Amino acid sequence: MNDDMVLVLNSGSSSIKYQLLDPESGVVAASGMVDRIGEEHAGIEHQVDGRIFEHRGPIADHAAGLRLVFQMFAESGHDLAAAGVRAVGHRVVHGGEVFYQPTLIDDAVVAAISELSSLAPLHNPANVAGIESARALLPGVPQVAVFDTAFFHGLPGAAKTYAIDAKLAAAHGIRKYGFHGTSHEYVSGRVAALLERDPAELNQIIFHLGNGASASAIRGGHPIDTTMGLTPLEGLVMGTRGGDLDPGIIAHLARSAQLSIDQIDEMLNRNAGLKGLSGVNDFRELQRLIDAGDAAARLAYDVYIHRMRRYLGAYLIELGGVDAITFTAGVGENSPQVRADALAGLSRFGIDVDPDRNVAEDRVARYISAPGAEIAVLVVPTNEELAIAQAAHRVVTAQGAG
Ligand code: ADP
Repeated sequence: MNDDMVLVLNSGSSSIKYQLLDPESGVVAASGMVDRIGEEHAGIEHQVDGRIFEHRGPIADHAAGLRLVFQMFAESGHDLAAAGVRAVGHRVVHGGEVFYQPTLIDDAVVAAISELSSLAPLHNPANVAGIESARALLPGVPQVAVFDTAFFHGLPGAAKTYAIDAKLAAAHGIRKYGFHGTSHEYVSGRVAALLERDPAELNQIIFHLGNGASASAIRGGHPIDTTMGLTPLEGLVMGTRGGDLDPGIIAHLARSAQLSIDQIDEMLNRNAGLKGLSGVNDFRELQRLIDAGDAAARLAYDVYIHRMRRYLGAYLIELGGVDAITFTAGVGENSPQVRADALAGLSRFGIDVDPDRNVAEDRVARYISAPGAEIAVLVVPTNEELAIAQAAHRVVTAQGAG
């Protein structure tokens, strides 16, 4: 193992995803996931050189999970404590107004990320747990926080402002923050490279369609709008989140169905979207149901596409014309049907998907627009881990840390 590797950690409420990778070549030395932390049937799947190592049994908390991961690294030939990891890069979901670039972590930064938990109660506490565990296990290694909101920090006032009582909004940090920023930034850079154009000259729309989903409108390398908002609930239809809805629904449910705010929050996060409409949140399962003639699954799919097209239209106008439309993440990279349906019938706007290119199963960044089409339509695999590793590496190199 060379001594310029970065360990990337993505700590969720009951999971830790990780990769050890070379930020220059992108080569992944090892990767894995701790799952169901705090539950009886927890486990770790650790992959190195095509081999899979497994651990089953209860894992009390993030610290215990990460300790076991370090043991598995050692047993599989990469002793992290001994081998000199250059940096640890942490995905942190919410940076609020405080953090808008990759930040070297110290006690004050940890405290500030923790304070932002009111804006992201499901995510930031887990991120802090991951950071504290990693700091304890690798005390000499610089740790860098990379924020999911950072790319959208400079959204224009008209796009980031909710039209509610301005004083109340200011007192409670209410604005559109946007999420998936690491992915939107990475993919927009790859698009410019693929088009061999200066990012400063390009207008782009990006659809990041994974379990969570968001779209962004990017002018000259800077986002001017995005679908997610104060929280990752706004915008597109997702696996378990419904995206945009009339805020009156929340008050109506509280009164009429006697649901508490926490119950409504739970429903909106975990039991809405494709799951709420069809019973399944995974897109492949949704497709199987549709193929079997399930009407609820069909409607869920139609709502999903309808929402995408609504934002496509909005962003085309906001940008005043677009050079490239790009699909990324699990659904965006793998579902030709979604790409075709989202862009169907838009030839008069210069948008033409080539059917053969669209169904090609290449795993690389590629065009799916027809040759000579006015607007480039692309599929670009996202790689948030690589982007986080590169950001962490830049920070430690610039600051002479490590
Ligand atoms: P996350 O947001 O957790 O990173 P991903 O980007 O991995 O999620 O996307 C997960 C989604 O991608 C799931 O809904 C999954 O069904 C969908 N997906 C993965 N492969 C395919 C495929 N071949 N066809 C359609 N959907 C797919």
